[in-house]
Order: sequence, then C-alpha cells, then structure tokens
Amino acid sequence: MTRLCLIFDLDDTLYSEHEFAYSGFRAIERWAYGKWGIEGIAHDMKQMLDSGMLGKLFQEAFAKHRPEHSEEEFAELRDIYRTHDPEIALFDDAQWAIAHFAGQVPMGLITDGTTEMQQAKVRALDIAHHFDKIVFTHEGGGRDFHKPHPWSYEAIEAELGSTDARYVYVGDNAAKDFVTPNLRGWTSVQVRRPKTIHRQDVIADGGTPQHVINSLRELPGILGD
Ligand SMILES: [Mg+2]
Repeated sequence: MTRLCLIFDLDDTLYSEHEFAYSGFRAIERWAYGKWGIEGIAHDMKQMLDSGMLGKLFQEAFAKHRPEHSEEEFAELRDIYRTHDPEIALFDDAQWAIAHFAGQVPMGLITDGTTEMQQAKVRALDIAHHFDKIVFTHEGGGRDFHKPHPWSYEAIEAELGSTDARYVYVGDNAAKDFVTPNLRGWTSVQVRRPKTIHRQDVIADGGTPQHVINSLRELPGILGD
C-alpha cells in the first residue's frame, strides 16, 4: 500500500493570481494617492495586465503618473505590492479539495516568489494549518531556488516522506512546475484555469504533466482515492 502525499502549488492553483495583482494595484493606488494625490494608477495597471503586459507594468504605469519619480520611490511601490495584506480567496474547487484531503493525507505546499509576499497570501487565505509542510522556494537562496530547482521538492520528501510514499504535485504552470516531480518519480497534475498569469500552454523539457484536469474536484478520481 503506498501512502499518498499531496503537494500543491499556490498561485493560480489554489487562488487567482490576477486577484492578488488587482489587490496589489489597489494598495499602490492608496499609497500614491496619499503621497501625491495621484489617481487612476490602479486602473491603468489593471488594463496593462489584462492586455498581457507583465514585465514592465510597474515602470510604465509609474512613469505615466509620476514621470519624475526616484529609484527609491519605485522600490517603495514594488514593496507596497509585495507586502500589502491581499484581498484574495480560494477557488471554490481548491476550498473543496483542501477540506476533502486535509487530515486524510499529508499535504504540502511549494510556492515561488519573494517569501514575504507568498507568506502574506498564505495568511490571507488562512490555509497554513491544513498543510504539514510549506516551502517558500525563495528561502532556499532567492530566485535560483524557484521551481524547477529540486531544493523544495527534496525538503518536502524529507519532511513528509516515507519509503512507500506516493508524491503528487498539483500545479498550473507546465513551464516549471512538473519538471522535477517527473524526474523524481512523483505524479504530476496540471489544473487548467480559465485565466492565469503565466501561459498554460508552454511546456518545459521534461515538464509534461501526467494528468491534466479542469477542477481539483477531479483529483480523487485520477488518484484512485
Ligand atoms: Mg502557479
């Protein structure tokens, strides 16, 4: 009998990263209004994101509303986004899956992004107590430790592991989420979301998910639970 260990990604797997971004834009709006009376920056940022811009979004929006801004002000804007208390909620099927599996099987979370920002998301979603191990990949040593770096997956195995464990990784992003699970003999599951920050059709070498589902409610069916 193998023992199921269920490991989730966070962003766009358990909640919508767009909702986090919009929440961050609103925090930036409050900050910019309080400091300089600037209005409309959240609206512009939302439009940029919705039209597919990601990399230069902050620079362009800030340049439009405060062309004379200093580097320190820009760093502050980025910090506001990363450290604000986000207004986000679990996807319905994520809430269902957590309730279904919590306490039944060991559960873990592996998430990329600056640690403070990812911690704020976990706090806002109030999910930490459901997980036996949460790995913030950034804590390994910054961006280099983001997925697919094996550090976080090894940490999960060390914490939750047993020789008969069957690890399952559930994520959204085939460009990074499934390479290492596939290499380590884990089961990889992609959940497809209608709207994601990262494209869902980009697949890394060796990163093809073994299962693709449209809702986490399909998990018991494919895992034989
Ligand atoms: Mg994700």
